[in-house]
Amino acid sequence: MPTDNRFSRRSFLHLSAASAVAAFPVFTEPMLAAAAGAHRAFSKDGVFIDANENPLGPSQAARDAISAIIPQGGRYCDNLTDDLIHAFAQIEGVNPEYIHAFPGSSTPLNCAVRAFTSAQKSYVTADPGYEAGMYAAADVQTRVVKVPLTRDYTHDVKAMLAAGTDAGLFYLCTPNNPTGTLTSHSDIEYLVEKKPAGSVVMVDEAYIHFSSAPSVLDLVKAGKDVIVLRTCSKIYGMAGLRCGFAVARPDLLEKIMRMGGWNFMPITAVVAATVSLKDADLVPERRRINASIRQETFQWLDRNGYSYIPSESNCFLLDTKRPGKQAIDAMATQNVFVGRIWPVMPTHVRVTIGTRDEMSRFQSAFQRVMTGAVAISVSPSRYAEQRTRRNLAALT
Ligand code: PLP
Repeated sequence: MPTDNRFSRRSFLHLSAASAVAAFPVFTEPMLAAAAGAHRAFSKDGVFIDANENPLGPSQAARDAISAIIPQGGRYCDNLTDDLIHAFAQIEGVNPEYIHAFPGSSTPLNCAVRAFTSAQKSYVTADPGYEAGMYAAADVQTRVVKVPLTRDYTHDVKAMLAAGTDAGLFYLCTPNNPTGTLTSHSDIEYLVEKKPAGSVVMVDEAYIHFSSAPSVLDLVKAGKDVIVLRTCSKIYGMAGLRCGFAVARPDLLEKIMRMGGWNFMPITAVVAATVSLKDADLVPERRRINASIRQETFQWLDRNGYSYIPSESNCFLLDTKRPGKQAIDAMATQNVFVGRIWPVMPTHVRVTIGTRDEMSRFQSAFQRVMTGAVAISVSPSRYAEQRTRRNLAALT
């Protein structure tokens, strides 16, 4: 196993000269959340459980590492990214040549769609599923194939195969966003085995640490046509710091890199991610916290007769028994921000697991909405309106 990842990253240097890189929008969770929510204007007293963020933020060790690196902020410090790659490689047992770090996994997700799909090669995804890749595909006139989840809310890999005989890229997210449900390793293996020649399977493991499900990194290690995406935005609480990874064979990584996108890493994110990955207690501790608040939330919903889709992640779909937008707006009047809606399940709204206190405020607000105690009239701030308009413009 090579020990210096800088070598492989140098090999990408020729790409900027070799490829004509067009500017394109990178579709991200905050963009989708803001476009759908309309009222997302941060305030200290608001409860923001609409964008699958981690209310715990970066760990204490990550905060300390950021403070310590600030004096070096005038430097590019590329070698620190090598340390990060090596930490990831060691923990996951992956060849460092197979790992590339990005300022968040949105960049490789969007770039992979552009790299592996085209007017002739479709993009196959789940419905409901995370929409960023779908928008990226539509942006390059790719046929977007949305395949309903099974009755158990797992990816229907057989139906995906049947619908995607011309597929360039199959996208799976497990645990899925927005349902928080898992797709089994064996189903993903089946898809990889049976997929059309030349196509690629991209497995988004943004939320994998909230569950105890096995990763499919073993398929990458085995040299399959598989890309695994990871992010530090979720369990590590670093959404605003920006760090994510694409893990794949070097030839697949090169194709992603050819699409451009900003990929130099902010050094604050690099040091925070490195110490976070190396902290063996962090993931189990945060998984436990999330699971216990999630369970309490589900118990409360059960006690009060509300329905939802049981989830293994930091979000779940809540049945609001009315057009979801009405519930989102009514919750917003109480300073509790939930969302968004997937057109295939129009009465369901995605809710992120917040802190215990936030979920208790969520419960009061939701109870008031469901018992009709809240009038729906909202006046979003001028800036929130502007942001929403811009985000919607990018999505259409
Ligand atoms: N993939 C999924 C399924 C997500 O939900 C998100 C963000 O919410 C991302 C990828 C991108 O995350 P980031 O760009 O912050 O790493």
